[in-house]
Amino acid sequence: MTTRVRFAPSPTGYLHIGSARTALFNYLFARHTGGKFLIRVEDTDMERSTEESVQSILEGLKWLGFAPDEEIVFQSNNADKHRAAALKLLAEGKAYRDFTPKEDRSDKDIKKEIAEKARQQGDKKDMRDNPYRDLSKEESDQRAEAGEPFAIRLKVAEEGKTSFEDAVYGLQERDYSEIEDLVLLRSDGHPLYNLAVVCDDIEMQITHVIRGQDHLTNTHKQILIYEALGEEKPEFAHLPLILAPGGKKLSKRVHGEIVSMDLYQDKGFIADAFRNFLALLGWNPKDENEILNHDELIEAFSLEGINRSNAAFNFDANNPKRWTDDKALWMNAEYIRTMPLDELIPLVREELRSEKLWREEYDEDEKDWFRNTVDLIRERFYTLKDFSNQGRAFFSEDFDYDEKAINKNLKKHEDLRQWLPELAEKLEALEDFSHDEIFAVVKEFCNEKGTKVGVILNGARVLLTGQAVGPSMVSTIEQLGKEKTVMRLKSQIAWNE
Ligand code: GLU
Repeated sequence: MTTRVRFAPSPTGYLHIGSARTALFNYLFARHTGGKFLIRVEDTDMERSTEESVQSILEGLKWLGFAPDEEIVFQSNNADKHRAAALKLLAEGKAYRDFTPKEDRSDKDIKKEIAEKARQQGDKKDMRDNPYRDLSKEESDQRAEAGEPFAIRLKVAEEGKTSFEDAVYGLQERDYSEIEDLVLLRSDGHPLYNLAVVCDDIEMQITHVIRGQDHLTNTHKQILIYEALGEEKPEFAHLPLILAPGGKKLSKRVHGEIVSMDLYQDKGFIADAFRNFLALLGWNPKDENEILNHDELIEAFSLEGINRSNAAFNFDANNPKRWTDDKALWMNAEYIRTMPLDELIPLVREELRSEKLWREEYDEDEKDWFRNTVDLIRERFYTLKDFSNQGRAFFSEDFDYDEKAINKNLKKHEDLRQWLPELAEKLEALEDFSHDEIFAVVKEFCNEKGTKVGVILNGARVLLTGQAVGPSMVSTIEQLGKEKTVMRLKSQIAWNE
């Protein structure tokens, strides 16, 4: 049997981090089992679905690298099939017409009233108390023919229970008495969510439904629909919730932009790294190694490795100080530092392009210089943005000096005001502007002035890069080259800031 899974987003906003994780687990499962990964856009909520959201979700999936193996399905195109299924169940007596008048009330009022009724009834709510449930077929047909509007509800049996073996949570059961006669088709002919999902999953021959734990209640309802339709149900795997710091459920309203996948792309995350990070939200590889590239994730992934306990997500976009303890950032830094240079270069190119720092020479005459520079500076970077921020001085004369660096490493040592231009003269005289020669000059200069190499190099770093920290200073001087080094060491700009 070929496995077939689907990711089924509702296009009512951007790609949520929880949805991205669901997409990832479906994708990994499909690849691991040699099956198919499909996408179904669940655009049946006419009021809330937007084309913009469809695009934003698809872009997010594209960034993460989850291309579907078959054409994308749009649920709204299947409404006729959903209606036909409801009518079939009606004809077979497995569903009934509910003529309860909708009256002139908003859905909100109805919901409030239902909630209030449920509250009054407490646990003893009778799910089978619909007056139309046992209407004779003749009367039901007559009223429908006379044009009376009706919804179609599933006729859930009085006694029994739904049961399935969840691949993550084990045996799941629910007594029928806890499930209402769910509406399949609204009186305006609009098919409802659970019916649409089941019909589409059958049509798409989905073998495994992998989705958030928040769908567990729906799953029981959907199983009733599978049974009524006489279709075999797929396997189910529900995923643990992703919790925000403090243990609350991660929500767009409370946690703002950190739930949106757009943010991570904008902040300069690497898709591979972010995929790796997402995979660990609720799934554990068998061994200790948490850095798993695309192929390794596919190889290692299994439904058995999914945790039952909720996953914690700590990213705090507004607190860059915390970035160093943040797992997503730590992982991104690992990727930047260790990924093949050939894969990193195109990403840095994009970043520099978007900041207008890119020069075509970097792909031509200065190709080697560019590679070496990226390789040198990536060591301490966390995101692609660092290449255009902290790394800016390598690509432009228009860079800022970090105020703290100026105060600590430059102005505290007044002598440097003379010394650094003097050092510039000595470096200018060098014929072979290479690492060892540069180092020798610096060393001799320090001896002559009776100062520590650190004082000279930290001061030089501020003038050359605007930063307090960075890669090896002698390598930085070599990489910047003689002309820029000499010019910047002589410059008074930072001193006058
Ligand atoms: N459209 C649903 C959602 O976005 C998912 C439905 C499913 O996976 O069955 O939550």
